[in-house]
Amino acid sequence: MSKTHYNVNGLGGDILLGVMGDPIAHSKSPVMHMAALQALGIPGAYVPLHIVPERLAEAVQAVRVLGFRGVNVTIPHKVAVMPYLDKLDASALSVGAVNTIVNDSGVLTGYNTDGIGYVRSLKSELAPDLNGARIVVLGAGGAARGIVTALLQERPEQIVIANRTKDKAEELAEACRSAVTVTGIALEQAAEAVSQADIIINTTSVGMAPHLDGMPLEPSLLRPGQIVSDLIYNPLNTRLLKEAERIGCRIHGGLGMFVYQGAYALEYWTGQAAPVDIMRQAILDCLG
Ligand code: NAP
Repeated sequence: MSKTHYNVNGLGGDILLGVMGDPIAHSKSPVMHMAALQALGIPGAYVPLHIVPERLAEAVQAVRVLGFRGVNVTIPHKVAVMPYLDKLDASALSVGAVNTIVNDSGVLTGYNTDGIGYVRSLKSELAPDLNGARIVVLGAGGAARGIVTALLQERPEQIVIANRTKDKAEELAEACRSAVTVTGIALEQAAEAVSQADIIINTTSVGMAPHLDGMPLEPSLLRPGQIVSDLIYNPLNTRLLKEAERIGCRIHGGLGMFVYQGAYALEYWTGQAAPVDIMRQAILDCLG
């Protein structure tokens, strides 16, 4: 394969990529993207960048100066980074947060690949057609916002957002008003919507390590054949997913979302199809 130069300062050289966050040492993105670069035969590096909030503006400028082709952005910078960018893609504007920056010769564009990454994972792994589906989203935080926005593109019949804090569910439903019916309700009132749903998606942090016993809903509400999806990937199978599988539901974990949000970013940076199986395996190896 001929060597492609991705250095954006016109100086030649290998591709430079990274992820900005605080903290960042726990991030699995470097392992996943280094495996992808290697598989694609693209020389370069993807590095963790520990950026404290007070230095965010300088860090974004450094992306330009150092000729990074792009970076991912994670907690707590996804919203704060937006004013420092030159352009915002529709995905970032509709979600109100950026997780991927692409550097085109010093012009930085912000994207959000979390929601579309989730939907690509759900469709490729379990539910190829979401058209006409009745969906319940548990939670109304940052991840829910991206997911609901991306799900709307698939023309489901309805989306019910059920959240512990009812106001937030109602606000998100209002912000996502479209041709699809989107309703916000309190989590404790979700029983009927859950029992009638085709797909139930947990976007809350309930069940995430180290609180492995937590469940965002009572599993007796579930029916065999329903799809139950959980954004959490630590553990790979949450208690909710285990209980759902026991009842006869089809289950979908959060690892695919992480892989595909990265796959979209890599595709924006390199223009090449991401080796998703290799990326997934790199994380599984890392998680042991
Ligand atoms: P966030 O903005 O902090 O939102 C957290 C949500 O969880 C809120 O809706 C919150 O409800 C709810 N919640 C928290 N504790 C709860 C409890 N004890 N009972 C009921 N609801 C509770 O967080 P986020 O960024 O959306 O992330 C949410 C989850 O998604 C996390 O587990 C995260 O790891 C996962 N995630 C996975 C990926 C991936 O690539 N797989 C990507 C992003 C996020 P209130 O509004 O009432 O507080």
